[in-house]
Amino acid sequence: MSKWHYDVVVVGAGPAGATAAETAARMGVRVLLLDSKTRPGTPVQCAEYVPTAVKRYIRLKPGCVVQRIDSLRTFINDQLVSTLAAPGYMLDRAVFDSSLVQQAREAGAEFWPGAKAAARTDREVVVRRNGQEVKIACKVIIGADGPRSTVGQWMDSQNQSFMIGLQYRMPLCEPQSSTDVYFCPQYRGGYAWLFPKGDTANAGVGVNLNFKHVIQELLRDFLKGMTTRGILGETPLDSTAGLIPVGGPLPVIHRDNMLLVGDAAGHTHAVTGGGIMSAIIDGKLAGQAAAKAVLHNDLSRLAEYPEQWRSLLGRFLGRAARQREECDRNWTCDPEKFANLIKRTWISFPGNLEGRELHAN
Ligand SMILES: Cc1cc2nc3c(=O)[nH]c(=O)nc-3n(C[C@H](O)[C@H](O)[C@H](O)COP(=O)(O)OP(=O)(O)OC[C@H]3O[C@@H](n4cnc5c(N)ncnc54)[C@H](O)[C@@H]3O)c2cc1C
Repeated sequence: MSKWHYDVVVVGAGPAGATAAETAARMGVRVLLLDSKTRPGTPVQCAEYVPTAVKRYIRLKPGCVVQRIDSLRTFINDQLVSTLAAPGYMLDRAVFDSSLVQQAREAGAEFWPGAKAAARTDREVVVRRNGQEVKIACKVIIGADGPRSTVGQWMDSQNQSFMIGLQYRMPLCEPQSSTDVYFCPQYRGGYAWLFPKGDTANAGVGVNLNFKHVIQELLRDFLKGMTTRGILGETPLDSTAGLIPVGGPLPVIHRDNMLLVGDAAGHTHAVTGGGIMSAIIDGKLAGQAAAKAVLHNDLSRLAEYPEQWRSLLGRFLGRAARQREECDRNWTCDPEKFANLIKRTWISFPGNLEGRELHAN
């Protein structure tokens, strides 16, 4: 076993981890960012929408944005019931994720692709890389390792409730500038979506994980309907699937010398499933707290992260979690009751608009 020393180890190089690594490295501490994938962000597991407000937090490098979005259209039981201004971007997530990692490296973070965090001892992380185990000594660990987080396991704080999303990239017959979401009782605990990307679209279905056995069939029917209506072409270009934590923010995101950020912390919006903005905001806050803890040789400074997160996003994401519970409790096949339930809980409707610009998909 070899031995390495860093101030901060960031596990997972998605938007949360790359942003945390960049932030901490810019503050002058030694950062190692690692990801079990050789190319983080691929295969893409995302519908790729972000609100324009993302530019408050990061630089969007050329190639990250495929097209602009103006509005969010909501369909319930196949009726268009709302068109809401929702300025945003459709990303190329592979380019976006890799540009965030590049920015972390430019700030001074070291990046290890193909390196999986496997275990933890008192102040060390055991990493599997190139068929070998490497021990890394560090002061702070940031868990940015997605919905089923290994660092969360070390902290005894893990997501329990998930939506599963299955998506095809399809030819789009006419360009459009809205993201469209479709609610029907059969999409249990979720919805279908069509997000345009130039001459293609990400078209998918998300349902509560307990209903994953029907998701293929639901997506096939959704795509067939879109093709029949002349909205989508017939031949899928590629497909992707992934888990989205929808149980709400985890109560514990700081323990000992460890912090959880992004999906690992349950910081996706529990109703929309959107999590890129939260991941980036978390990354900034956790990266700052980690750097301060190192620079002041005071691990109690790590507590600044959950405090700041709570004041910025806690109310908004907590409310989303309660709305998700309400949806799950009252899901119904009665068309009128179903429409009313969605109107009470979906972000496009009066009473649910607060903070919407952060999670408008
Ligand atoms: C189908 C689908 C559609 C979605 N659409 C949208 C959307 O349109 N807009 C939006 O805002 N959000 C969307 N989301 C959610 C969004 O993708 C996530 O919220 C976002 O990626 C969270 O970023 P993250 O950095 O926390 O985690 P991730 O992006 O999941 O990154 C975690 C990284 O950790 C790595 N990792 C895991 N375990 C280890 C380990 N032990 N050691 C080392 N590395 C590890 C993984 O390889 C991965 O690269 C969607 C999700 C899905 C599944």
